Amino acid sequence: MARRTMKFGGTSVGSAEAIKQVVAIVRDFLADGDELAVVVSAMSGVTDLLLESAQAAAAGNKDEFIAINATVRQKHQAVIDSLIPSGAARAAIEAEVNELLQQHLELCEAVRVLGEATPRISDALVSFGERLSSRVITAVMEAEGLPVQQMDSNHLIVTDNQFQDADPLWDETEARIAKGLRSRLGAGVTPIITGFFGATPDGTITTLGRGGSDFIAAIIAAYLDSDELVVWTDVDGVMTTDPRLDARARVLPYVSYQEIGELAFYGAKVLHPKTVQPIINRDIPLRVRNTFNPSHIGTVVGAKTQPSETVIKAVTGIRDVSMLTVSGRGMLGVPGIAGRTFLASAKAGASILMISQSSSEQSFCFTVVDALAQNVKAAVESELQREIQHNNIDSVDVLSDIVIITVVGSGMRGTPGVAGRVFSLLGENRINVLAIAQGSSECSISFIIEQRDLERAVAELHTLALETVEKDSINRIGSPY
Ligand code: ADP
Ligand code: ASP
Ligand code: MG
Repeated sequence: MARRTMKFGGTSVGSAEAIKQVVAIVRDFLADGDELAVVVSAMSGVTDLLLESAQAAAAGNKDEFIAINATVRQKHQAVIDSLIPSGAARAAIEAEVNELLQQHLELCEAVRVLGEATPRISDALVSFGERLSSRVITAVMEAEGLPVQQMDSNHLIVTDNQFQDADPLWDETEARIAKGLRSRLGAGVTPIITGFFGATPDGTITTLGRGGSDFIAAIIAAYLDSDELVVWTDVDGVMTTDPRLDARARVLPYVSYQEIGELAFYGAKVLHPKTVQPIINRDIPLRVRNTFNPSHIGTVVGAKTQPSETVIKAVTGIRDVSMLTVSGRGMLGVPGIAGRTFLASAKAGASILMISQSSSEQSFCFTVVDALAQNVKAAVESELQREIQHNNIDSVDVLSDIVIITVVGSGMRGTPGVAGRVFSLLGENRINVLAIAQGSSECSISFIIEQRDLERAVAELHTLALETVEKDSINRIGSPY
């Protein structure tokens, strides 16, 4: 018997067929005597639709948010029609869905009147995706005779009020999970919990960022002392690159917490970047598996750095970023310019994805998402106004249409010449590198290239990963878990 926390992503719960798979998986684990806590995402596409409804409402477009509401209804109704026999149980879940969709409409109407979708209202609006999916899935499982109970995560996950990207308040969350969840597990009930959102101490809904259901599941796994966290998704595991970027992508049998942290931060959407945070110190293994191919063992993510043939394990890319360069001869030896620049960027709401400084100290560059680049430029120029007036700084330039490529692998630490190999490969392929940075953990190297070179760069570097991943798959018998 093991205690497992499982999370099923949007595609895994995206249709009646998919939900059938989820039911079969949960049933199998329960039959083995496991104690499960299950976290679910919204049905695929629903979070995007709900965000669109917020925008439509803010723009005063009533017809559009009503149409979106109808589309969301239809997606859930199709599951109900196909998986819940008509009768009292079906009527009950239809009433719950109705009630939630009515609340969604009322909230949209409030946004329309206000003329603005604040991050706070937007978080409340998108939470309907998980509220709906978790209730429908619970009803399906009940109809299948599984001992389940739906739960909303705003009662379990306490966060700060950083809407759209909230962070947990750990102690309060631990206490809520101990009180609200542990007792149910002991009573033989499998909770079906909403992912994505939590609430401030006063109960206002917050979300933990796009893809945040992974993070919620990890928090729950940590405070339930789970033996394993399983993230069920639509690919066989963590792969050498996004299979949508290069079809040759292969599943990695094992990656360390640190490696997955870098991968996720630099764009591998397969896990939310903060997923390992709650489990890392507890040494809870995380397994990424495919809902649609459950016989595949998946990828194990754990603490140990396992001996690996593979130096570069994976390649990721982030699109839609801009590079800002602050340059000027007068910067040499003037302390604090970088610090003030980054503070000004943060005040403009931008997190910095990568920083690089020229060795002469006459310039440094950093990257932010495209959407914020002009705001950040204005904020930095205003902060450095004096230096610019005195010609100590020449300019703050923005370069758009660039991408960040990152190669990840902890084997780089002890292997000289990896960077050399990477950059000569790019040089041979005439791919121009605009800036370079190495993660302090030495398990990643990031660099900036032009957007048009993205596919070619990934393909070339990916070949380096593919050279050895085969050997690791064969050696997986040596996996530490
Ligand atoms: P879920 O809805 O299950 O959370 P996501 O769409 O958020 O699923 O994440 C899974 C997707 O992540 C995959 O379909 C794949 O296209 C993408 N992806 C990007 N990089 C990687 C990678 N290195 N390994 C596996 N999948 C990746
Ligand atoms: N439904 C949310 C999203 O699409 C959270 C998640 O799926 O993890 O971002
Ligand atoms: Mg996801």
